[in-house]
Amino acid sequence: MRNHLDRHLAAVRNLGILAHVDAGKTTVTERILYATGTTHKRGEVHDGTTVTDFDPQERDRGITIFAAAVSCAWDGHRVNLIDTPGHVDFADEVERALRVLDGAVAVFDAVAGVEPQSESVWRQADRHGVPRIAFVNKMDRAGADLDTAVASIRARLHPAPLVVQLPIGTEGAFTGVVDLLSMRALIWDDGGEAAVDGPVPEELREEALRRRRLLEEAVAERHPAALEEFCDRETVSAATLAAALRDLTRTGDGVVVLCGSAYRNRGIEPLLDAVVAYLPSPLDVPAVCGMHDGVDEQRPADPTAPFAALAFKVSATSTGRLTYLRVYSGTIGKGDAVRDTSAGRTERIGRILRVQADRHTQLEHAVAGDIVAVVGLKSARPGSTLCAPDAPLVLEPPGVADPVVSVA
Ligand code: GDP
Repeated sequence: MRNHLDRHLAAVRNLGILAHVDAGKTTVTERILYATGTTHKRGEVHDGTTVTDFDPQERDRGITIFAAAVSCAWDGHRVNLIDTPGHVDFADEVERALRVLDGAVAVFDAVAGVEPQSESVWRQADRHGVPRIAFVNKMDRAGADLDTAVASIRARLHPAPLVVQLPIGTEGAFTGVVDLLSMRALIWDDGGEAAVDGPVPEELREEALRRRRLLEEAVAERHPAALEEFCDRETVSAATLAAALRDLTRTGDGVVVLCGSAYRNRGIEPLLDAVVAYLPSPLDVPAVCGMHDGVDEQRPADPTAPFAALAFKVSATSTGRLTYLRVYSGTIGKGDAVRDTSAGRTERIGRILRVQADRHTQLEHAVAGDIVAVVGLKSARPGSTLCAPDAPLVLEPPGVADPVVSVA
């Protein structure tokens, strides 16, 4: 039983997308939903049809205001996308979203590089110890330059950038990338729908090899064990390099950098592969810490431990009052009693839903590591802790009550 549950947990990625307003967070999110088959129609930001921006107020203002969690599947993994507001006015919501996710993609504009808000959200993510990978978006724009964007990441955010791709073509002619691990070229057709995986074009071979060596050096410099392995071998395998990149991402000693154009649907699949390969599962992150009777208490990501979850968004929808939960430990089922320690009430869980863009799937249970929405809770607000009545816990100190969002 435990092995089965661990396998399930190891395949979960609770992911946030962090960005400066306008860097393309909504477009990246929407393309991820499309690439994973979660949505079938490609929405465009400008016509107001993107699925994560479903709040009318949000549509009107053209900024992502309210965090929404959407679940999708990629390569045998469940990716729970937790939307984080990119606007400074919503810093509290960003903080809470950072608490409930295990890893993030930071989106940058290939022309502007690091912008003030990307810097502030990066620092917030640092404080929460959130492992990140970087996606340099808008590679199709006039003036887009991966090297300059990477230099600004290095100079202003100070992580060691570990660039794993070489772009093929620039600006309007950006048509693909060389994957520096596999040393294969991925070239997209005009619609960005089909990618052809082939050998590195002759004229790019030398440059790709040079960049691959730079990547190996950057990894070896920061990862002593990898350095030892590299020294023993004539050539470093893609698997060895990937394992070292995963370690560096999870310790925060390096940030893997990929590039693409979300608008043109280029670079999304490699980004999803990187999310699965490098970012941690709920099993790989430290146990959450709460308070019980004035004493710190840790709750590991263990489905058999007492139940504990944090409510991070509450919205009034046509389905009812939806409370989005990050389950940290234990398991809950429909009809179970839970204690809302913030409100001092015990309530029953109604339906448990997995939210997939515009539709919901009903679940029998939610287990440690899951992000779900539940129907039936009357008192929970963003920041409320819900736990087993016989094992109370407070995950977040009481603060100003967040509003319940109406999206019906
Ligand atoms: P957000 O504010 O970070 O959520 O950014 P959006 O996804 O709303 O994108 C902001 C603007 O940039 C929109 O007009 C998008 O169409 C545009 N955009 C997004 N991705 C790309 C891209 O890859 N290339 C170009 N040229 N424009 C893009």
